[in-house]
Amino acid sequence: MTRIAVIGGGIAGTSAAYELAAGVEVTLFEQESTCGYHSTGRSAALFTECYGDPIVRRLAMASRSFLEQPPPGFTDDPILRPRAVMFIATTAQESSLAEALPGYRAMVPAVHGVDAAEAVARCPILDPAVIAGGIVEPEARDIDVHALHLGFQRGIRERGGRIVTSSGVTGLSPEGGGWVVETATARHRVDVVVDAAGAWCDAIGAMAGSTGIGLVPKRRTAFTFAPPTGAAPDGWPMILDVDEQFYFRPEGVHLLASPCDETPMEPHDVRHEEIDVALGISRVEAVTTMRIRSVAHAWAGLRSFVADHRPVNGWDPDLPGFYWVAGQGGFGIKTSPAMGRFAAGMILHGAPPPDLSAAGLSAEALGVARLR
Ligand SMILES: Cc1cc2nc3c(=O)[nH]c(=O)nc-3n(C[C@H](O)[C@H](O)[C@H](O)COP(=O)(O)OP(=O)(O)OC[C@H]3O[C@@H](n4cnc5c(N)ncnc54)[C@H](O)[C@@H]3O)c2cc1C
Repeated sequence: MTRIAVIGGGIAGTSAAYELAAGVEVTLFEQESTCGYHSTGRSAALFTECYGDPIVRRLAMASRSFLEQPPPGFTDDPILRPRAVMFIATTAQESSLAEALPGYRAMVPAVHGVDAAEAVARCPILDPAVIAGGIVEPEARDIDVHALHLGFQRGIRERGGRIVTSSGVTGLSPEGGGWVVETATARHRVDVVVDAAGAWCDAIGAMAGSTGIGLVPKRRTAFTFAPPTGAAPDGWPMILDVDEQFYFRPEGVHLLASPCDETPMEPHDVRHEEIDVALGISRVEAVTTMRIRSVAHAWAGLRSFVADHRPVNGWDPDLPGFYWVAGQGGFGIKTSPAMGRFAAGMILHGAPPPDLSAAGLSAEALGVARLR
């Protein structure tokens, strides 16, 4: 039986391992003691079909049915919950709003524009003196990332796969047409290596002798705070600046916000900088009547991109048996079901699943050759 090592226990590695474990022997290696410690545990948990380039949007659309109706036993709780998104613009950004609407609507017909009064009616803390209007995506959703990630992990085990935590991969060497995967305590002989190590994908590639994919991890900050007294934010949409300068959304009893920072850096256990939190506060306050007195919790995570901001899902052209699932940027959670199925199709059958091909998700669009 084919043996596959998947490196990385975030949403990318677990979704690929889940699909692969249906057909082959899979071992997933995670360096941390738990699988969602890095980017996957730090996201804003939004499902939108309007964010990202057309390939990213098609991957999200192709993931929707799995997220809405996962296989029986996958999870006890629904993965998606209603949460509209409203892209907003100030009077200085009206041209951005006009430019964005046709592109959004071309792929998602339910998307529609709203005037300033309706935007404020949907989110009453928006400041009517500065808001010019918005674009509403009514079918966006909150994602229960924990339920999704746990469902993939449980499914891997139920299908006979293994997840080994606290097992960082320290070496990769080709041997007899396959690979030897080294950790601090063991050597594992496999036929295929899947590099799904998030911000560390190029570091794993380098261990295998690859020239890499030009991955750039970028820090993004998020923080939570109490909503204004008397506000009932649960029914509000997620508010996204049309030029991606900030967002905020209900998060339990709090609001969650981000300054949409993108600071390039080496992969590591990233922490937030107070200056980015302050920037987020000032950007949110500039379009609302709300004053943020104190922050409940702040954090940062890495969003890793290749040059064209599309994910990478394909064989390394120069390293037989080495497969990349990388570059999930700011869309790795919402695209994970389709990304996992795409990887399994390519690895097990030499082609993407027919429905993904029909959606324009080809080996050329997602593969490594476009980056070399
Ligand atoms: C603030 C923020 C908001 C976001 N909001 C959204 C959103 O609303 N919607 C959305 O879809 N996406 C969002 N994202 C993006 C999403 O979180 C990422 O795209 C996704 O989590 C990436 O998953 P991953 O598995 O590639 O990376 P990770 O979750 O980082 O997983 C990679 C894993 O590889 C492991 N690893 C690394 N090196 C080794 C090694 N040598 N051996 C073994 N294991 C190793 C790491 O420990 C890590 O657990 C957001 C991200 C951030 C930071």
